[in-house]
Amino acid sequence: MSKIALVTGASRGIGRAIAARLAKDGYRVWVNYGRSKDEAESLCSEIESAGGSAVPVGFDVGDAEAVKAALEPLIDSEGAPDVVVSNAGITRDGLFAMTGHDEWHGVINTNLGGFYHVTKVCLRGMLRRRSGRIVAISSVSGQAGNPGQVNYSASKAGLIGACKSLAKEIASRKITVNVVAPGFVETDMVKELPKEELAKAVPLGRFGTPDEIAAAVSFLAGDEAGYITGQVLGVNGGMYM
Ligand code: NAP
Repeated sequence: MSKIALVTGASRGIGRAIAARLAKDGYRVWVNYGRSKDEAESLCSEIESAGGSAVPVGFDVGDAEAVKAALEPLIDSEGAPDVVVSNAGITRDGLFAMTGHDEWHGVINTNLGGFYHVTKVCLRGMLRRRSGRIVAISSVSGQAGNPGQVNYSASKAGLIGACKSLAKEIASRKITVNVVAPGFVETDMVKELPKEELAKAVPLGRFGTPDEIAAAVSFLAGDEAGYITGQVLGVNGGMYM
């Protein structure tokens, strides 16, 4: 039976590329989506037509009850995932002085709370199996900070701390926990940004592609990364070293 990889926020952008890559690597992929059901279904059809295996799974990562309601029956029938990629994320940018309660808590709850809700539900089976890979998608903003993104940076730095602590807690069960921290990547999330201007601040002179992030996740999920845990892999064109 194929190993299973759960990818949150896999309907679009980076998550979609990660799901496609892990399917190519031979995993059966649970393709989580929030609002973009059609996109998630079309990705699953693409994966299946290419000979892979995938199923769309809708839930809001920020809603603990919805996460449980969607994942527990799947885990009961197919087993806990071997790989969990916490990728779903949002931005609600603005200067801190103008950041309201909803912008603060919404971003923290989706980006960091989502990691908690999803990992918690999957972890019991992974612990019992004594193997697994957890990868969280953080951001260069969580490492270096970025004006206008105090809420987002807090959520992404929080993921780094959470992953390092969890890595220490569960290393004895042979489960690794790592972080991929992208710089600018060409997706809907950055489509409003002045790309040419911002690319000048990237030593490699360009935005990254979703496939470049997916390649890093594929490596960390694979057998060859078995001795790597608690690490943050920057995939950022040199923006932060
Ligand atoms: P994107 O194109 O905006 O896609 C976001 C994905 O997250 C979508 O699939 C969306 O699904 C999903 N999502 C959002 N809220 C959700 C929720 N509450 N529950 C379930 N799914 C949810 O963004 P992206 O650029 O691919 O970003 C992916 C991750 O990389 C994020 O964590 C982001 O912070 C991080 N990142 C991105 C960049 C960049 O430059 N693009 C840089 C650094 C880090 P639906 O449409 O189905 O709701």
